[in-house]
Amino acid sequence: MKITEILDSRMSFSFEVFPPKTDAGMEKLRSMLQYYYNYKPDFISCTYGAGGSNAGRNVEVCQAIIDDGVTEVMTHFTCIGNAKAKINSELGHYRSMGIENILAMRGDLPAGWEGTQGDFSYADGLIRYIKREFPDFCIAAACYPEKHILAPSFAADIAHLRSKQDNGAEFLMSQLCHDVEAFKEFVYRIRDAGITAPVVLGIMPALDKDAIIRMTVSNGCSIPAELAAIIGRYGEDPDEFKKAGIEYTINQIYRFMEAGIEGLHIYTLNKWEDVETIMDGCGIRKDV
Ligand code: FAD
Repeated sequence: MKITEILDSRMSFSFEVFPPKTDAGMEKLRSMLQYYYNYKPDFISCTYGAGGSNAGRNVEVCQAIIDDGVTEVMTHFTCIGNAKAKINSELGHYRSMGIENILAMRGDLPAGWEGTQGDFSYADGLIRYIKREFPDFCIAAACYPEKHILAPSFAADIAHLRSKQDNGAEFLMSQLCHDVEAFKEFVYRIRDAGITAPVVLGIMPALDKDAIIRMTVSNGCSIPAELAAIIGRYGEDPDEFKKAGIEYTINQIYRFMEAGIEGLHIYTLNKWEDVETIMDGCGIRKDV
């Protein structure tokens, strides 16, 4: 099923996982998926290593979700280091597996790279190509509620986002965002710019002080005072930090849902026990 069919009818709810590096990690992920299915996600997305790293495991993870037959899968895909021949072969393979949904991105340039070293410099070109060569895919694009870190201005970033929609992106998956007001303002601005595609909000659970600071700061996102206070107060105590961070994340989910989001996507960080605590705290769709 195409994810847009779900978004047309209700707020979506979904998880993101990443491909493990080892066989043991893969086995663990397979069992972890069973826990995620209990929450009846509309789909599970699997990240794609830019430059092709771990791409094989991405296919394995997608196949495992397909084999389980419980929910839809969306693969991430980037054009870093990918010329048309490789794109054709990988996307052809995804289609032959029955994958209908793809999050098409440029990817982060690895250190020292000048450009993508592929046939597309930006996501809009990749999206246009997928729309033409693989018209059966339902295409999502990445969006940045607090601006992409490298964009020269918010207006330029929104113009590029509009180009992704104009070239075939049917819905948008957001970067992590802790600031509800910033997210609301972003949605207002993109609607004003003629972007009508539904926006699925990405939530990064606050489980580990260093990780949450690193991921937030490296993406140029803001840390609200409430989260900063948790970092300041519990930063030296990992267990207490996680406890406070989980409570914060649950409250954030409530606040975003009150703000009227069109979809909620949890970056699971492959930590199912913590995700389970958060989901249970939010009272989300658990099978009993
Ligand atoms: P683009 O849309 O190409 O934008 C990149 C930059 O260029 C922006 O500053 C934009 O304003 C600018 N720009 C865009 N189009 C043009 C244009 N035509 N001309 C000039 N400038 C332009 N990375 C991975 O490697 N693997 C993943 O699985 C992955 N999953 C992600 C999931 C989500 C939900 C998000 C939000 C990001 C994910 N990323 C992933 C990271 C993503 O690849 C990076 O954020 C990357 O830097 C930008 O990708 P993009 O598709 O948004 O790029």
